[in-house]
This record gives sequence, C-alpha cells and structure tokens, in this order.
Amino acid sequence: MIPFLDLKPVNECYRPAIDEAIRRVLDRGWYLLGEEITGFEKAFAEYCGTQYCVGVANGLDALTLIIRAYGLGAGDEILVPANTYIASILAISANGCTPVLVEPDWNTYNIDPEKMEEKITPKTRAILVVHLYGQAVEMAKIWALAKKYDLKIIEDSAQGHGAVYQGRRTGNLGDASGFSFYPGKNLGCLGDGGAVTTNDAALAEKIRALRNYGSHVKYHNQYRGTNSRLDEIQAAVLSVKLPYLDADNQKRREIAQFYRENIRHPEIVLPKTSDELQHVWHLFVVRCARREELQAYLQEKGIGTQIHYPIPPHQQPAYAEWNALSFPITEQIHREVLSLPMSQVLTPSQQEQVVNAINRFV
Ligand SMILES: *Cc1c(COP(=O)(O)O)cnc(C)c1O
Repeated sequence: MIPFLDLKPVNECYRPAIDEAIRRVLDRGWYLLGEEITGFEKAFAEYCGTQYCVGVANGLDALTLIIRAYGLGAGDEILVPANTYIASILAISANGCTPVLVEPDWNTYNIDPEKMEEKITPKTRAILVVHLYGQAVEMAKIWALAKKYDLKIIEDSAQGHGAVYQGRRTGNLGDASGFSFYPGKNLGCLGDGGAVTTNDAALAEKIRALRNYGSHVKYHNQYRGTNSRLDEIQAAVLSVKLPYLDADNQKRREIAQFYRENIRHPEIVLPKTSDELQHVWHLFVVRCARREELQAYLQEKGIGTQIHYPIPPHQQPAYAEWNALSFPITEQIHREVLSLPMSQVLTPSQQEQVVNAINRFV
C-alpha cells in the first residue's frame, strides 16, 4: 500500500534532533513566547527574505490577523481566487470584508491576473493571492494592478514554503504573507502552527500584539486582540526542520519530474510549470475527466490519492449566498483534480508503481 501521505517517516528523519529540541523546551520550563519562537521567527524571516516574521497559532489566523491589522472590515472588498482552500476565503469573511472571487488560469490553477481588473471597484482594498499546490503566483501583472489601484497584496503561502518567483521566495512577494505549519505542509510542525512574514514594521508590531490579547506589555491591552501564539515546542521543532526545507523541496521536485516524464495517458492532464518558478510540489495534481474511476482504480491497486478539493468554496453551504453563481473553470477543476502520492520520503519503487498503475488505467 502506498499511502497518499505518511507523515510518520517524514518526521522520523529528524527524530533525534526533534527529541532534543523538545527536551530543551522541557528543561527550560518556558512554554510560550520565549527563546524558541524568537529564534524561529528570525530564521524564517531570513529564509523568506523578509525583515519580520511573527509566529501565530495556525495559517488561518495568520491570514485573518493580517487583514485585521490592516484595519480592513465591513464594506471592504478583497479579491481572492475562486479556486482555493476555503481558509483563504474564511480569513476575509472573519473580518467582515467581502471576498470577491476570481477565476483561475487553466495552466497554473492560480488566480488569473487577466480576470482581476474587471472585479476591482472603489471598495477594493486588497488582493489575496494563493500559491496553490506549491507553485508561486506569477506576480508581475498583480504588482502592476496593486500599484495602479493602491491595493495591498496579501499572500496565502500555506502551500508554497520555499517557492520562488523572479528570484524571490513566497512570503516576500507582497505586502504580507500568511504561512501554515500544519503537519502535512512542506514545512510542518507536530500540531498546528503558522506565521506572518512582512517587511512592514508597523504591521508586524501590531500582529505581535494582536496574537497576544492585543498586548505588547503584559496586562496593558492596546487592542482587542486574540490568543494566537505559536508555542515553544512547535517553534523548536520547526527550527530543526527549516534548514532541510530546500533539500526536501528538491526531492519533491525530482519526484514531480519523474511523474511528469513518465506518466503518459491520453486522458490525464499533467501539471504545468516552468523552471524559473521553482515549484515546491506541496501537491502533485493531475486532472482526469473520469476522476472518480481513476481514484477507485488506484485505490484498488493500493495507491492512496486525495482530492484538493472536491467542492469549490462558492458551492459550499457555508457560502449559501454564492451557490447560484457560476465559475466554470473553478468548477471543472474541482470535478477533475486528483492528488497523487507526494512527499520527500516516497521511494523510487513507489514512484514507479504509481506511474505504472496510472499508465495502465483503462
Ligand atoms: C492549509 C491551508 C491554510 C490554513 O492553514 P491552517 O494552518 O490549517 O489554518 C490556508 N490556506 C491554504 C491554501 C492552505 O492550504
């Protein structure tokens, strides 16, 4: 059996160092907002190429707090891809802002810059881009639109740790970026975790307070904040794994290349990318009109797959007011996508089994 994703061997690679990191926290006896988070924030900012990083409790909070710290709320519109994980959209709604959905591009599955300008109104305040499946959004046209209309660019980098566009890493392609360290992400901790990266000192300071009850100084509350901290154990674990992120991403790239060179099936559409983007393959997503049949067939062959995602946000009961809207590209993507096994510990023989099984699908 080849599972879609087996996290145990992923973390087992780092086991001695993780054990040591956890022991260090226990020995110190300091569990929140201590040396570990400070150290990780510094290292992750450096990795992304930004001046600041603020650790928070998860990726959704990272995005929600960015929007909140910019002071956006009711009446403000934020453009967001229609084809994304629901969290990108929930972060907008949670602040009372209006998400304005934009169709993706067929080649990248990321937001289509050509379809954005027509959605901009006098109420538009920001563009939330999502580096979906691990491929950085091609930003040039989005930078130009943001400049023209004076919009903030917020990145959802939860699937894009380490991905590059024009020599810059995600997290440093907009005004502020939200990361998730959910265990299955390319950089994952042993529970929930997240971070905001930015070059905006005032924004970073505000989020530092918002994550901790709105307080910079204990029991002095400047804002009506929340509790969204990255704990010391998770920060210590992330500090162990971060130095290996590029090597892990490189392994994913090699696996993706093997899949792309060897999967040959007239009914299967492979993902498209270019070398300059340095895709980090959080997910390896193929499309097939007979997706359900393909998934059942692979399951029967002992190959686990998943669907990212089965129902588009605008068709979810949580957004009933959008259910009548039509986003044909997004809908077709949701009908056809299937994610193949992908992780840095997938062996060559497992990769071959996946390829052979798919090529024999009838
Ligand atoms: C995982 C994910 C999130 C949310 O991160 P959590 O840490 O689970 O809150 C947000 N956006 C995208 C695109 C994601 O994949």
